[in-house]
Formats: sequence, C-alpha cells, structure tokens
Amino acid sequence: MASSANATAGSAKKKTTKAKATRKKLRTCAKEGDPDGDDICADEPDEEELALAEENELAEQEEEQAAVGPPTRTRRRPVIRRRVAKPRRVQGSGNHDHEFVGEPIPQDEALKAWPTRYQSSRAKVKARTHYRQAKIEDTIYSLNDDVYVKAAEGKTDFLGRIAEFFEGTDSRRYFTCRWFYRPEETVISTMILEKGTDHKHDPMRVFLSEDKDDISLDCILSKIKIVYVDPNLNSRSKAEKLVECQFYYDMSYSEAFSTFANIPSENGPIISDTASKFSGDTVDLGETSAKKATLLDLYSGCGGLSTGLCLGAALAGVKLETRWAVDFNEFACKSLKYNHPDTQVRNEKAGDYLVLLKEWAVLCDKYVHNVVHSDSVDPLEDEEEDDGPLGEDEYVVDKVIGICYGGTGKENTIYFKVQWEGYDSDEDSWEPVGNLSDCALKIKEFVQEGHRLKILPLPGDVDVICGGPPCQGISGFNRFRDSNNPLQDEKNRQLITFMDIVEYLKPNYVLMENVVDIVKFAEGYLASYALSRLVSLDYQARLGMMVAGCYGLPQFRMRVFLWGALPTMVLPKYPLPTHKVVWRGGIPISFSQSIVYDETQESTLKEALLLGEAISDLPEIGNHQPNEIMEYGGNPRSDFQQYIKLSRKDMLDYSYEHKVCSEDGKLLDHQPLQLNKDDLARVQQIPKKKGANFRCLRGVRVGEGNKVEFDPEIERVYLDSGKPLVPDYAMSFVGGKSKKPFGRLWKDETVATVVTRAEPHNQIILHPDQDRVLSVRENARLQGFPDYYRMWGPIKQKYIQVGNAVAIPVARALGYSLGQAYKGNSEGLDQALFVLPNSFTSLGQAAVPDVNIPSPVGELVE
Ligand code: SAH
Repeated sequence: MASSANATAGSAKKKTTKAKATRKKLRTCAKEGDPDGDDICADEPDEEELALAEENELAEQEEEQAAVGPPTRTRRRPVIRRRVAKPRRVQGSGNHDHEFVGEPIPQDEALKAWPTRYQSSRAKVKARTHYRQAKIEDTIYSLNDDVYVKAAEGKTDFLGRIAEFFEGTDSRRYFTCRWFYRPEETVISTMILEKGTDHKHDPMRVFLSEDKDDISLDCILSKIKIVYVDPNLNSRSKAEKLVECQFYYDMSYSEAFSTFANIPSENGPIISDTASKFSGDTVDLGETSAKKATLLDLYSGCGGLSTGLCLGAALAGVKLETRWAVDFNEFACKSLKYNHPDTQVRNEKAGDYLVLLKEWAVLCDKYVHNVVHSDSVDPLEDEEEDDGPLGEDEYVVDKVIGICYGGTGKENTIYFKVQWEGYDSDEDSWEPVGNLSDCALKIKEFVQEGHRLKILPLPGDVDVICGGPPCQGISGFNRFRDSNNPLQDEKNRQLITFMDIVEYLKPNYVLMENVVDIVKFAEGYLASYALSRLVSLDYQARLGMMVAGCYGLPQFRMRVFLWGALPTMVLPKYPLPTHKVVWRGGIPISFSQSIVYDETQESTLKEALLLGEAISDLPEIGNHQPNEIMEYGGNPRSDFQQYIKLSRKDMLDYSYEHKVCSEDGKLLDHQPLQLNKDDLARVQQIPKKKGANFRCLRGVRVGEGNKVEFDPEIERVYLDSGKPLVPDYAMSFVGGKSKKPFGRLWKDETVATVVTRAEPHNQIILHPDQDRVLSVRENARLQGFPDYYRMWGPIKQKYIQVGNAVAIPVARALGYSLGQAYKGNSEGLDQALFVLPNSFTSLGQAAVPDVNIPSPVGELVE
C-alpha cells in the first residue's frame, strides 16, 4: 500500500500490517476452496462411500419388508415411543371405602350425555347407571374435579379430571379419567429431562389431553387443584393465578402428530385480531389484500424450503418474503442470492450467525437507540476521531461496508469489512474490531444504515424461521452414530443452534425440516428434544411426516416437518396429499400416527406422477454437455411440464419482480455429471429397458439367492483401458444382491429419493433412453423446482443443492397452510390435517385470482 494514503480530516485510521496479512489469507482460501476440475465422475466409488451406500441399501431392504403399503389411521400407537404405556397402569385396588352418593343421573339424561356407554358394541365398559358424585374415604368428589390417580407400584401417581362416574354392567364402580400429562409423560419423555439438557420445564405445568380411560373408582387418591392459565397472560397475572393451585395447564397435548396446542374452547377464539400482532403490516390492495411477513431461512441450501413456503403463502394471500438466509456453503449461497436478489444471504456458520446477531443488537442499541450496555466490552472509543498525521502503519478508512463474526482463518470476534480511502475495491479487507478502535464514526454510519435496511434481524423482526439443521450424526448414511447421547455428537449440534436462534429471535412461527431418522434414531431423542425445546419456549408445536410424492412428484422422499407457533398465533396444520404415491420402504410403522395421510381420502387423489411425465420434454443431450443455458426445443407434454415451466410471475414468485431476466424461456442446468470413459463405455452397454442394470452386462449371471456371479462359460470382458467391463465393486455390492449399480430408471417409475450424488456406481440414476446420468435439471424436476430456478457452482455442488432441498411442492403446500394460519384462519382448529383446495395443484393455480402484491423494499445487496 502506498504512503499516499495520507490523513484526511475526520477520517479514521488503522494499523496495516495485520490487515495485509488478513487479505492475503482470504484470497488464498478462495482459490483453495474452488473444487472446479472435480467435475467428472470418479473412476470408482471410494471404500467408505460404498460401505455407506451398502448399509443404506440393507436398511432400505429391511424397511421395505416391514412396510405394508400406506399407513392406516387405525393403528393406535404412540407417535414417538413413549415411556408411559397406555392405557396407564393404575393400581387396581385402592382398598379404601368408595361409593357413589346422591341419586343416579336420570336414564334419558345419561343416555344423551354418554350414548356409547350404553351400547354394548362400542363401549369398552358398559354402564348401568351414571352418577354425579362419589365418596371416597370421607371426601366427596364431583364430575370435573381434578384428582391424583394411583399409578402402579413405584411409579409417580397420575393426574386426571373426572369425566364420568358410573356403575358398570359388571356391578363395579368406575370413573372415567381424562388425563393430564406432565411434560415427561408426553413425547418429550424423561430421557430429555434426565440428561440435563439446556432447558427446563416448569414443574407446575401440565397438558390436558383428550385421552380417557375407565378406571376403578377406588384408584382416586385425592383432590388437586389444576387451573387453566391463558398462555397469553402476562407473567404477573399468571403468577397470581398460580398461587391458588398445585398445577396449571395452558395447552393441550395429543399423541397424534405430537401436538401441543392452545385449547380453543377454554381460550376462546385466540385469533380475534391477529393482524395487529404481526410485525408485517397489512397492505390494502383494493379488492384483495395481502399480509406481509418476513422469513429467515437457516441452513438454507439453495433455498428449496423457503422458496416453496413463499409460493404457497402467496396462494393463501400472504406475502412471505425471504429476507435473510444463512448457509456455510458458498455455492448454495450463490444460488439462493441469484434466485432471490433481495435476500440478505450470509455465507457463514449458523453458530457464528447467532453470535453476530447478538453483537449486532448491542451495536444497534448503542448507535441507533443510544442505549449502552454497561457489561459489554466495547473496543470502540467514542471520542472524536483523531485527525492527526498518520502513523507509519496507518491508513484511512473510507467506509465500513460489512460485518461478520469469526469464520475460516479468523479469530472469534467481530470483523468489519473496510473500504480504504484511495484504494479500489480489490483492497477491501476484513478487519477485527480491535483494529478499528479509532473508527467509531464510520462504524456508526454503517450500523445506522444497516439497521435501516435490516441487514440483520433483531429480536421481533422475524415472523417465520424455517430451516433444516443437518443431523448427520443420525443419518442412515452415517455409520458412526452415537445413540447414547445424540446431542453431544458434534454433527447433531446444529439442532441446538437452530433452537438457540429461535429462542433469541422469538419468531411467530417456526418450521423445521429433517430426515425421518430424527424420529427413529435413539428412540426419537432428537425429535423429542426439538419438541421439548419449543414447548419450553412456550410455543405450540406439532410434528408430521410428509411424502414428497403425495404432492405430485415422481419421488417417494419422506421427511419430518415440525411446526412451532407462538400462543398468540394459529398453529398451522398439515396439508393432506393431493396425489397417490407408490409407497416404498422407509415408513416407520411405530410412528404411523404422525404420517400426513388419510386412507379414506384415497379415491379423491390424483394418480401418482411418473418419471416420464416429469422429464420427457427435455432435449436429448450427451454425457458431456458444457452449456449451462440452452433452448428447450420442444413443448410440454404433460400438465406437470407445463406447470414447472411457468414464469416467476405465474408461479406467484415475487422475489425477482423488478428484473427482466435474459434467461427467461431458456432451459437451465440441463447438464449431467460427466462419466469417465470407462463408466461411459459400461453405461452404453446397459440395455434401454425397464429394470436394466450391471446384471445385464456380458459375463454376469444371477445365481442362487438372487446373488450375482461371473459366468464361468464366458471370459471376463475388458474395456479399452484394460479395466474390466463389470467392476468388482458392483459384483460384491450388498453381497452381490444389489440391483443398483449402473441401474436405469424407467419412464413409468418413481424414484425412491433424489440424493446429492450423481455417480451411477451404486444407485439407479441412468436416464431411461440416453447413455448418461440424470442431469441437474432432471433431478431438479424430480424435486419440483420451477425451471426458472438456477443453480450455481461446479456441477457436483449443483447436485448437492438439489438433492439436499425440501421438495418444492411439499414446501409450497406447507406455505399455503402457514399462510392460512397467519391470516388467523381458525377453521377446524382441533384438526391437525386439512384438504388443499382443488385449485392448488399444478395448473390449477392459474385459476387463483391475480393477487397484486406490492414490491419488496430495496435492500443492500453485497
Ligand atoms: N433447506 C434447504 C436444504 C438444506 S440442506 C433446502 O430446502 O434447499 C442443509 C444445509 O445446511 C446445507 O446446505 C449445508 O451447507 C448447511 N450447513 C450445514 N452445517 C451448517 C452450519 N453449521 N452452518 C450453516 N450452514 C450449515
């Protein structure tokens, strides 16, 4: 840096030595991180990859055997395995005096109140007469009293509400108990609370359920007082109410979809004037009006989840805007930014983002709200900036243009990005806050502008947080999982970080997505943790599993979705399927109560979508296709194809509305991972027919137990390179029983799950009638990405982004549900599921009235 950077009046200074070092390092990192050149399919899968794929296929086979088609709602088993067996084991003989008192309830009145109790076929215990009161050891109990109920020896006594008193036709005396659950008796379970996790539940808080059991009258132990507390009561009024009781409840609990929710009947219509509670305002648009809401997408990837949510919310008349997104993969960030230019996309670790948010709040307090935190260490000096002559190592800061916390090669502190006076932008550098102690004014300007533009959210700014924190420590693909203490596993810590961010920002709504393993692994510990954490933060919550294929895709793909909603809001439901689906393995039978499916609705569903319908219009390409942009060269051949080619405007995607895009109408990312010569030669010999794979290659035959072996009659065939036509790894994969290596997909099939890799060595990913793997665009079609959505980065990164994403139609259906809840639509509040309107699927959306949603406010784009 030249010494011409002389001091300017009013400008700040810094020491250079360190800054130069930082800049150099950053540039080197950028080059190192660039995986270009790694874009051709590797010769062979590495050992670990093979082992993982093998384990996965074995698990799939097991599940396929266990699965018996779509789930039925008749199985009444808990959603997540609970420690409490139901019906609850109560101690059968209290051995104390017990009798009914008063006159029996007149027969016609009792029949009206409890009709099934008198019909032998439907009642578990048939009644002879009902009563209003009972006496147990000198205490009189009435209907609706809350009581302790004796549990089995050594267990904590249960809590319940008396719903009926009756004498059975077996002449025994019963009461019907409607249960209250302590947190540890719900899906939250004792294992979460025992392991000393990062949160606690109020020991006085219980949850009212609709679960009832008929129990011998003598099991009533004593009366207790459990009061209802409106969840929206302020803490003082709440404390006053709690003085009079032993327990309180503010929400209900139901096993179906592990639901913790407001109690509508006791809470009244919670949704009286929800609009006033939103941070987003209502915009009057003449005949139609749309509410605005802000979205933060954590672990955003290329933005599948948030994109779908916004599309669906728009259909419900809510303008949901992805204002902020965070991911530590730079290519995923580039994709998101490209498709959502107004979003503040941050390429950093979620944990660093949280620290940054907290530091940002302190800076905003200081420079915007003029509040100084006495306990915070402030390296910035407030005094007038020094205009004296520059020291040897000092240069003038022209402008502060960015902020971050830590990061690769950096210390754990706040860094500011600095533009230097007299130097062009190539010399911009990230400086630790400690180097900028004389630059308070520049920082102040930056913070004030950043606050105005909301480059980072403050608590209360975010209406909705969505995200899929990766839990690689549980994935079926990961052999090294620690089931003893899943949250200690570094690979699962992101679940905690996700919840920490929720706790800090307190959005109105939370939607967390994850793989199904989250409910299977370690008895569902991680799912329990997530629910527990939300409930302890006073959120309503529910958990459901959705199959992507059910929303009009040729793919199975089951994922878990967890809703959270503040008690002031309506808890969103799960949208029921619109399409039939070819059920595959992977359905965890013990969790069938939280699968979003209703078999009674099956006849109304559209036919399952097949691979051909999704991709048949795409032009033929070779194994190497270097162009990211090309012409379609043909028209849509199915409703799906017509739909997926809609423009941003017709999809109601407002994230790009100011820009005219030169790519409109062009085909993007229709490029396959280039196979190396040997693999291409193998693929060219796989016949173009349904079910073809490496078994069809010359020299392979299928022996006993469906195992492959080399045909001793045929000499082993070699390729020009000298490598065998049939590689050893294909022969030995899954003990020779797999049909996946070099497998071809067929037009009338659905895919199990689009994954993040495109190598054909151990998965079925060959195009039905072309000698190549499915292209990025074809995979994107299977995930329901609109054709206008473009991916960035080397091709393997593009496959990763597409494979990681939440299938757009699923996210879109959830977005519709969110939009309805956001507007305060409380129809069927006690239901966890709802039917999407007919206009929802594919082209139906053209029928939706043209909601003229206003343009977003301009944002600082780095
Ligand atoms: N919801 C996304 C997919 C997310 S996949 C979609 O629908 O498109 C999970 C993402 O988490 C990956 O993109 C990965 O890069 C990112 N990730 C993993 N660990 C992270 C961390 N500690 N901080 C930020 N991002 C992380």
